[in-house]
Amino acid sequence: MKQILSWGRYPYCPQTPHKIFWPEDVPKGLAHGATLAYGQGRSYGDACLAESGRVLAMERLSRVLSCDWDLGVVFAQAGLTLAKLIDISLPHGWFPPVTPGTKFITLGGAVANDVHGKNHHASGTFGRHVKRLILYRSDEDVVECSPTVRPELFAATIGGLGLTGIILAVEFDLRRVTSNKIEQRNIRFDNLDEFFELSQAHDASHEYTVAWVDCLSKTGRGHYMAGNHATDGVLIPAPPGRIGVPIDPPFSLVNALSLRVFNALYYHRQQRKEVVSCVGYDPFFYPLDGILQWNRLYGRAGFQQYQCVVPQKDGREVIRAVMQEIAKSGIGSFLAVLKRFGNLPSPGLLSFPLEGVTLALDFPQRDEINTRLFAKLDRLVHDAGGRLYPAKDAHMSATDFKKAYPCWKKVEALRDPKLMSLFWKRVTQ
Ligand SMILES: Cc1cc2nc3c(=O)[nH]c(=O)nc-3n(C[C@H](O)[C@H](O)[C@H](O)COP(=O)(O)OP(=O)(O)OC[C@H]3O[C@@H](n4cnc5c(N)ncnc54)[C@H](O)[C@@H]3O)c2cc1C
Repeated sequence: MKQILSWGRYPYCPQTPHKIFWPEDVPKGLAHGATLAYGQGRSYGDACLAESGRVLAMERLSRVLSCDWDLGVVFAQAGLTLAKLIDISLPHGWFPPVTPGTKFITLGGAVANDVHGKNHHASGTFGRHVKRLILYRSDEDVVECSPTVRPELFAATIGGLGLTGIILAVEFDLRRVTSNKIEQRNIRFDNLDEFFELSQAHDASHEYTVAWVDCLSKTGRGHYMAGNHATDGVLIPAPPGRIGVPIDPPFSLVNALSLRVFNALYYHRQQRKEVVSCVGYDPFFYPLDGILQWNRLYGRAGFQQYQCVVPQKDGREVIRAVMQEIAKSGIGSFLAVLKRFGNLPSPGLLSFPLEGVTLALDFPQRDEINTRLFAKLDRLVHDAGGRLYPAKDAHMSATDFKKAYPCWKKVEALRDPKLMSLFWKRVTQ
């Protein structure tokens, strides 16, 4: 059977999948030694890797169980991807309430990592839109939880890293749309201060905002993108049309030279300071999905993503210091992402976002270089009361995790005794 990895392919811990077609297959998979659910493996580090090396592959448990197209409420099995959900819901005028930068994730993964998107300042995390969950627990069989039914289990499961039970089905609200297009405003900025000014000026009037920054520039130049759903247009889902990376290059194609060239070209891609356009939802939300398996570009050693959030109070200065350390190191990714999170709280106990600023970027895996750089970045982030995103992480220490996520003990108390990930083992034991 083909073994599977996480998106960053680091740590290299191949997993044997046990395919789940029906809810009844879940206890059988657990009896065969699986200790975690695996959605689409779009988590970068070890959050989706089982301690046992055996996972329940959930993608075939993907039926829509009921939908109300008047109210925009869907009840679906947890293996349904956002890509398939959009294909089904968009023609009825509905879109996911929150979507990350890839649509190739499952509902189970969206709940377990309580994912956020470009609309965090307006809509919060995915968990805020969940009405009800159906779980399988090895010690209780099938159970239901919601904000009113077993609320502690619900809170522990939203962002609960798949440890409180196998999510079988999710009921959640959608967002009404009347077009498959986004009206987008793209503004080039020369430094980090300008990014904060743009964010201050435009976040409130745009549902979606994000910035791409040149991680090699000393000033923090980049592009600020803000968008709203267009009002006219058609409700036709985007066609699949994608290209792929066919092979695993032996070494990373992302290096100091390719990075410098790409970042310069990307920064200068628009002549005018500000461009307003109408684009499809695919290029707006999912620019990287256009290249299948782009993670292969980092070569066989894989890569790590560093995503941190720093509270509002010191956000600007700490992110500046983090970016200066990264620029000094001369490594990083083609595109680094910067965004201001809003203050809408999540129902989840281990949800990552905090009101403040988040920065995310990838690093080719080079043990010593990454360890040294991440240690410096970690100190800046943690000393400012910030934290790292478990969905992207492969290096956080147990001390930093426990300090940054003080509710971890409540999740541990509700953990299904048969479930254990490599991430949880690393940060709690
Ligand atoms: C290109 C790209 C862009 C991204 N952008 C963002 C972003 O903007 N915002 C953001 O928040 N994240 C982002 N991510 C991360 C991604 O959204 C999360 O890692 C998401 O959880 C992946 O979902 P998945 O279905 O692939 O789950 P997996 O990665 O397979 O698993 C993630 C977790 O969910 C658990 N899980 C999965 N299914 C179930 C189930 N049925 N029952 C119980 N537990 C389950 C797993 O055990 C694991 O703990 C991005 C990832 C990529 C590759």
